[in-house]
Amino acid sequence: MKFIYCPICGEKLSEKNIGDEGLVRYCFTCNRPYFDSPSSCVEVLILNEHNQILLLKQNYISKTHWGVVSGYVNNGETLEETVIREVLEETGQEVEKMQYVESYYFRPNELIMAGFIAFVKAKPFNNSNEVDDIMWCEIDEVNKYIARVNNMSGIHFDNSMKLLKSLR
Ligand SMILES: [Zn+2]
Repeated sequence: MKFIYCPICGEKLSEKNIGDEGLVRYCFTCNRPYFDSPSSCVEVLILNEHNQILLLKQNYISKTHWGVVSGYVNNGETLEETVIREVLEETGQEVEKMQYVESYYFRPNELIMAGFIAFVKAKPFNNSNEVDDIMWCEIDEVNKYIARVNNMSGIHFDNSMKLLKSLR
């Protein structure tokens, strides 16, 4: 995100030479640089003890396709804490173990997405109002449902399966 005004004091930003970064937008009132950084998110493939994948439908993202859990990192939180919180909030599942897979840059929304696999023991789903439908899906059925257009769910599923195979 490119800042023009300082989000703290409202002053128009100048530029300042900062080490290796070169010219960076800078507020000389707050003494604070504003880097052109993406927003941080997690993308989480949830796998249960029966080897099923959790898929959810969120109508604000797609009315036809299913995706994996995703969410913004709160300031003050680690990526692992975001994974645990988002999985619980959106699905009611408790993460027992997690594995980092790969990161993705999602250009339309300027997001950097850290992809994880979360291992859980299946529990009843909660009723998140951000989720319109939710299901456990057999691994070989996932391709029928998962979003691949304008969505990182499909590629994250592929990469997670590759990683799980290589770990076996
Ligand atoms: Zn300022």
